[in-house]
Amino acid sequence: MVFEKVETPFVATDFILPQLKTGEVLVENTYSTVCTSDLHTYYGKRSGCTHSVLGHEVIGRITDLGDGNPKDYFGEQLAKGDLITWSVYAYDPNSENSKKGFPQKSEGLYKYGHEQISEEHQFNGGFGTHTHLRSGTAIFKLPRDIQPKVAAPINCSHATIAGAIRLAGDLRDKKVLVNGTGMLGLSACAQANYYGAKSVWAQDIREEKLAQALDFGASQTFLVGKDPIQEASVTSGGMDVVIETSGTPEAIEQCFDLLAIGGVLVLVGSVFPQRDCQLNAEKLVRKLLTVKGLHNYIPEDLGRAIDFIDASHHRFSFEKLVGMEYPLTQLDTAFEMGHSGKYFRIGVFQG
Ligand SMILES: [Zn+2]
Repeated sequence: MVFEKVETPFVATDFILPQLKTGEVLVENTYSTVCTSDLHTYYGKRSGCTHSVLGHEVIGRITDLGDGNPKDYFGEQLAKGDLITWSVYAYDPNSENSKKGFPQKSEGLYKYGHEQISEEHQFNGGFGTHTHLRSGTAIFKLPRDIQPKVAAPINCSHATIAGAIRLAGDLRDKKVLVNGTGMLGLSACAQANYYGAKSVWAQDIREEKLAQALDFGASQTFLVGKDPIQEASVTSGGMDVVIETSGTPEAIEQCFDLLAIGGVLVLVGSVFPQRDCQLNAEKLVRKLLTVKGLHNYIPEDLGRAIDFIDASHHRFSFEKLVGMEYPLTQLDTAFEMGHSGKYFRIGVFQG
């Protein structure tokens, strides 16, 4: 389903399946979810290539393998029929940024669900029948008992939060605040709880979204403008870790002020243009604070996100976050429903 133009119906287009090169893998997509960034691209809130195939929260089954025995991230053999997920990008491990530990910023990075359709690569997103995986993609086999609608968001939302938690450090006995309770925020509540945080607070401006946080591991919720988080934080001695998913400068400035001595603020939501933030440097120095940013994630984070979902998908009802499901042929309706903002995710299945 080709994305040709902002807010214009997707165009069902036939392409011939590719001849695989060494190290490449062909996947039949089985289930995808509409990520907020897909909506941002489709509705023109950020620039995206056209023509392209959107969709990067996706799982599928291997239908073909190129020469060179393509392996999964752990070096295990892959075979036709394997159910897999993969990093949202293909990277060059020998690039300067990869060698520095930032494969997601590898020179010449190829991002699934974002790339312009070319003569060589048409099947590059989740909203198509297949995905053509390039060499340099971190591939992971999926446990079979995870529902497709729960598994699809692992390689974007859950892996990004796994990366944020890696940057935040050991959460055991820490007081954690999650700001913004969209898909990323709920995953952050659940993962902070899973990794042994002493308390998990959640804050949002939307009461209906915030209500879900308690089911996903939050111990206390704060509605912006109603519940006084400042006082509560001071009384409790401040927050050791804040995971900020909203990306709004006002929220970032408030979260910074809530940090305890040695506190860490991890920003993951700031992926659209905003004004500069005002953070007090004397406070940062005297309170030994750290502010970190994370964009995308590294393959290890995706591995940890799969383990987290495998261990906790019976404990947290992630399946409830997919509010509606549509076949790929009704992708326009899926995007309309996503745009309504009523649901955390919309599911798209093949058939
Ligand atoms: Zn995404």
